[in-house]
Amino acid sequence: MCGIIGVIQEKGEVAPFIHQALRRLEYRGYDSVGITTLDTSRLFTKKDKGKIDEVHQMLNLDDLPGSIGIGHTRWATHGIPSMYNSHPHFDCNDEIAVVHNGVIDNFLELREDLIKKGHTFKSETDTEILPHLIEDFMNDGRSLKEALKMTTSLIEGTYAVVVMSTREPDKMVATRDGNPLVIGRQDKTSYVSSDIPAFLPVTNNMILLLDGELATLTIDGIDIEKLHNGQKVARETIKISWTADQAQKGGFPHFMLKEIHEQPDAIKGTLRLRPEIIEGAAKLISNADNLFFLAMGTSGHAAVAGKHMFASLGGVLPIVELASDFQDSVYDVITENDLVLAITQSGETTDTIMAAKYAKRLGARIVAVTNVVGSSITRLADHTIITQAGPEIGVAATKTFMVQLTSLAQLALALGELTAHQDPEIIAIKRSALEKMPKIVSRVIATEEEHARHYARLYYASPSMLFLGRGISIATACEGALKLKEIAYNHAEGYSAGESKHGPIALVQDNYPVIFVAPNDETRTRLIGNIMEMKARGASIVSVLEEGDGEIQSLSDSVFSIPRGVEPEFSVMPYIVPLQLFSYYMATLKGYDPDKPRNLAKSVTVL
Ligand code: GLU
Repeated sequence: MCGIIGVIQEKGEVAPFIHQALRRLEYRGYDSVGITTLDTSRLFTKKDKGKIDEVHQMLNLDDLPGSIGIGHTRWATHGIPSMYNSHPHFDCNDEIAVVHNGVIDNFLELREDLIKKGHTFKSETDTEILPHLIEDFMNDGRSLKEALKMTTSLIEGTYAVVVMSTREPDKMVATRDGNPLVIGRQDKTSYVSSDIPAFLPVTNNMILLLDGELATLTIDGIDIEKLHNGQKVARETIKISWTADQAQKGGFPHFMLKEIHEQPDAIKGTLRLRPEIIEGAAKLISNADNLFFLAMGTSGHAAVAGKHMFASLGGVLPIVELASDFQDSVYDVITENDLVLAITQSGETTDTIMAAKYAKRLGARIVAVTNVVGSSITRLADHTIITQAGPEIGVAATKTFMVQLTSLAQLALALGELTAHQDPEIIAIKRSALEKMPKIVSRVIATEEEHARHYARLYYASPSMLFLGRGISIATACEGALKLKEIAYNHAEGYSAGESKHGPIALVQDNYPVIFVAPNDETRTRLIGNIMEMKARGASIVSVLEEGDGEIQSLSDSVFSIPRGVEPEFSVMPYIVPLQLFSYYMATLKGYDPDKPRNLAKSVTVL
């Protein structure tokens, strides 16, 4: 899940740009950071463990000579975060520098072979075998490009790598299998990176590098070829509508808070998607025998909400599966008449990609919902819906969750029309209710932010909390609990309120906080029963309720209010907002950085 960047420019020092580009990639990992530049036939490196700003303060990452360089921000998989395990990694003579995102599965045997041949290793990473293998091949007289090609034929696993060498100082080479790389080009400068925001301040034109391709970057341009036969690839340039400003904090103290505030616009943008994109997906879905929703984390909660929307509006009951366990759950009981809806904000979530690939091998069709144009899932899918959240930098997903819900709601409505499961009049009412969602979410942010800040102070010292809901609100409860775990490091469990009395209620004692997601839908009366049960055991009740719901209010110690009249199928959208804000303020009150929670990274590209 690391962020990698390579830049080659005509003149001037490249390190300050790489440093800033890494900051824009830091959401991908922040265990360590490193930059290597090349100048007058020598490599210059600064790297260490810690977040970029910390390392910069110690080492001054801007102060490196040379107009060609590579950088890396790490999410450790092999070896603890340390200076030695920080990328870039090198060959024995410090002539070849490599940054890598991914995992080399067979690194141990390759490492043993290399040690036997006399190579010395400085780190515990899987990555370090790469520069040593390239070194061997170059010592045999091969070019840097050929040496990288030979190296890829020996390694198993997933990778995106960028390599440069003092032996061929006028270029860098990059290749990938399973992890993303995008290329940019502007004014005699070539860029290669894990993600677009790295070079967004200079260009929003990008070229995708696909699995099994190799790119050579020079100041004069970019050459892409197929790894296995050297055949040249002509790849079109894609224009990204994201702006560099969107990837800045814009006056907010954290990206997460800014992104929570951007949710109304994100919904608006997604509602403006061309109707045929939604209708095309709905058609494919309506023709399927079985429909699977595959996702992980927050996207998984969107999938749970989507199941309710599809069942209620579309008359179709999807099977929701964790992508990580899909293959182990369904065995080979999938056919070409089935369809998988894969939901992944980054489009690179390895669990989801692998599950979708598995389903595809068995003949199923794939529809993708993702926020990133050109991402891996889009290459796999028969049909893609690109949600319009813009870049999300905060590691904890907020606005991308909102747009996933928006797209699932649009799909459910389109499906309802196709299957005639719902009266057209009802569909029209729901559609206009969805159109009003940006306003409702915006109002919730305006009225509930102060409450969230206040309740964070009130519940600050509680080490554990329960989040409960019924029906579609189980998705809200689970997402609320996940946010709190992710950024405030509280123990929190999202649960079905109905199921809570079969176990979790044992946790409850005096003043134990239980958060109830309580929209005014058909679950309300039964939920009141669950509130009473928790209250009887001394719980402190926090409710997210419909404005004016005096009954639940009178049972609650603290309340968040949501405007009246939200359609039950769309309730997750406004009801999650106070819980996002609550987690944010809990995290900041505890002094944690909500944008970079420990041990997490935004785009999970390992299994
Ligand atoms: N496996 C490499 C390491 O641990 C890269 C990790 C990653 O891409 O997440 O350094």
